[in-house]
Amino acid sequence: MKNSSFIRKMFEEGAKLKLLYGQDKVCDFSIGNPDMVPPDEFQTVLMEEAGRNEPRIHGYMPNAGYPFVRKAVAEFASVEQKVALENRHLLMTCGAGGALNVALRAITNPGDEVLASAPCFVEYGFYCENYGASLKLVPSTDSFDLDPAAFAEAISEKTAAVIVNSPHNPTGRVYPEDTLAEMAAVLEDASRRVGRRIYLISDEPYRKIVYDGLEVPSIMAAYAHSLVATSYSKDLSLPGERIGWLAVNPAAEDADELIGALTLCNRILGYVNAPGLMQRTIARLQGVSVDVGIYQAKRDKLRQIFDEAGFEYADPQGTFYFWLKSPVEDEREVVDALKKELILTVPGRGFAGPGWLRVSYCVDDKVIDRSAEGFKKVRKLFG
Ligand code: PLP
Repeated sequence: MKNSSFIRKMFEEGAKLKLLYGQDKVCDFSIGNPDMVPPDEFQTVLMEEAGRNEPRIHGYMPNAGYPFVRKAVAEFASVEQKVALENRHLLMTCGAGGALNVALRAITNPGDEVLASAPCFVEYGFYCENYGASLKLVPSTDSFDLDPAAFAEAISEKTAAVIVNSPHNPTGRVYPEDTLAEMAAVLEDASRRVGRRIYLISDEPYRKIVYDGLEVPSIMAAYAHSLVATSYSKDLSLPGERIGWLAVNPAAEDADELIGALTLCNRILGYVNAPGLMQRTIARLQGVSVDVGIYQAKRDKLRQIFDEAGFEYADPQGTFYFWLKSPVEDEREVVDALKKELILTVPGRGFAGPGWLRVSYCVDDKVIDRSAEGFKKVRKLFG
């Protein structure tokens, strides 16, 4: 609990501040909990699916999820990933978090290490520890891109897998295709050198939330021994519904054995399938997502505020997070000063990125507008 997420702590502090000062006074940029409602299509399909009353409509199903749902998802994902996925390569999971846990349970042995580029989503470490493995952080480049050479150095015979996340929480970076190709070469080479197959797990819940027409390159096209973990939490605004999927690259040499292990883990971790109603609903919504233009406009609004205030930042190419440079070494001083202005952000050290702050802007425009003066005032405070 002591090490638990800074994000959750800020989220809880936010709840207290809102009680004290009123909901409409606090600018809560702490958690990635989308404020946007799901698209209308979601509501229509959900009501139709919820209205069905047939034998076993709420019954058990194969451990990987309904075959017809996996087929619909696999068809769409094949286009995104540029490889031919069939329903047997894909499992429906309880969100991206569920998908990552299933993958780590199947791939790691106690004592193994999993590598990720720092800064990163803080829960990866906890997920690894669930299975007796540990997370080893590898520094990113100065522009927050993956550093394949640093990964080459960090890999050892203990390395079971590498987790990559693009678009990236908290920096908003999208890794370019040539970086993924370099990572693939490093992993091929290192797998031979250490004598075990190193898997690449791509955590992609923000794939559809990218700006300025950018495309997210495919991990599966880059590296055969790859898995994709994702969810509809962010792009359909459904984080509370716990629906996502995990796919195995058909080109992985042990794909069938791996799928068998993952399917077992999907059940024995206690999830016992992703919720059936949500599976049936999202099967009919492939390709639908919230209006990303709205997030792009929020990014632009906030960027203007930061420019005027004089903050430096990593300009988000995707996600709904700004990674803001702290004007002083210990970013917690800035987080505290912002809190006095009733602006909630998360200290970068919560993502293994001290000296930075994360600002989550999946919030109402009014919150962004209201925060402008506070950001400017605090930036001035630090000279
Ligand atoms: N991975 C990243 C990078 C995230 O930011 C999140 C949630 O914020 C997750 C995974 C977990 O997603 P889900 O709620 O779908 O389990």
